[in-house]
Amino acid sequence: MKNEGKKETEQAKKPAKTKITDNEIKITDNGINGNESESEKQSFEVDRRSVYRCVQCGTCRSVCPVFDVVGWESANTRGRMLIIKSLLEGRPPSEDVLPSLASCTTCGICASKCPAGANPPEVVEAARAQLVKCGITTDAQENLKSAIMTYGNSFGETRGRKHWLSEAELSKLPHKSDYVYFVGCFDSYRYPEFAKRTFEILQRFGVTLLPDEQCCASPLLRTGFREEAEEVMKHNLEQIRKVGAHTIITSCAGCYTTLKNNYPEELKVISLPEFLAEHLEELNLKKLDLTVTYHDPCHLGRHNKVYDAPRKVIQAICTLKEMKNIKENARCCGGGGGVRTGYPDISLELARNRLQDVPEGMDYIVTSCPLCVRNLRDAGGNIEVIDIVELVAMAME
Ligand code: SF4
Ligand code: SF4
Repeated sequence: MKNEGKKETEQAKKPAKTKITDNEIKITDNGINGNESESEKQSFEVDRRSVYRCVQCGTCRSVCPVFDVVGWESANTRGRMLIIKSLLEGRPPSEDVLPSLASCTTCGICASKCPAGANPPEVVEAARAQLVKCGITTDAQENLKSAIMTYGNSFGETRGRKHWLSEAELSKLPHKSDYVYFVGCFDSYRYPEFAKRTFEILQRFGVTLLPDEQCCASPLLRTGFREEAEEVMKHNLEQIRKVGAHTIITSCAGCYTTLKNNYPEELKVISLPEFLAEHLEELNLKKLDLTVTYHDPCHLGRHNKVYDAPRKVIQAICTLKEMKNIKENARCCGGGGGVRTGYPDISLELARNRLQDVPEGMDYIVTSCPLCVRNLRDAGGNIEVIDIVELVAMAME
């Protein structure tokens, strides 16, 4: 297999984020090194250049999906940037800023539209990390962190992560492979049928599982728990090295962006749609008489520019009719950035808005992220939402 993952993602804006390397952890956007004194722990420091890049033009007001739903000035991108600026300029950090800073889904549409080149979701994540250092968090954030640090998954599940495999299947898993399927918390515990189908396909290509996968750390990084994120990333990295894999394949957009942008650069990361698109001939898919639409997950699409691969897979199987806002302009499903857990009503409203972009007469809404599947399903539309692996499985039957 080649490294399919690099192709569509080369042009993606590379975020400056926590990066785990061989022997050290680097947090590159604001110089935190984990050895702060007590007084430094109380101060609020975010890279000033990235904050002052915002010239408060307000272009982003018209695209922020959270602002569209709640209508508070403090919950649009510009409002968030102003609050972060005020914290930098001496406003004491307090819980008052949480409704603004914790309600960003990190969808990134503001960054793609900003004429000044600001990257608000990156600034928001850095600000959240500073608030965590100051002990200012929501209960939802704390619960999420505790679940991951106690049980290794974001749901606080006590079942084994590979519960969807039988004892016989477990005993046959190769201990060594160049390729690993990183399942993620969502498919492991909420959609084990997706995990099973995905792994059935990937096993044909010699892909194995990690002996002890844990949460990729995405929810921790998005919500500001950087030290904890480093701990779980280190654990996963040790597991990857144990297997000897150089390439990771994942079907979750959150895992994908985290493995690709926060783990060591030498690790090759491929999303499931990219893998499927590269192996269409070997998969021998049959044509189906279906018309479907495709929802671009923010962390696969806008953040990493994986737009063509899922469309190529869908078009190899059936007719694709595009949604109203696609690719760079796709509206967020509302599930990311800790918003589904912290602000479920806002999150669902975003999903309902996204469903309004679906064209008439679709057989399915297809997407490539289990969190998007979950949020769009919960929004209660009348068209079934499926993961791309389910469409591929139908075409393989
Ligand atoms: S983030 Fe960009 S688009 Fe939004 S107000 Fe600031 S400069 Fe304007
Ligand atoms: S990342 Fe999305 S939710 Fe967050 S401020 Fe930007 S547009 Fe709004």
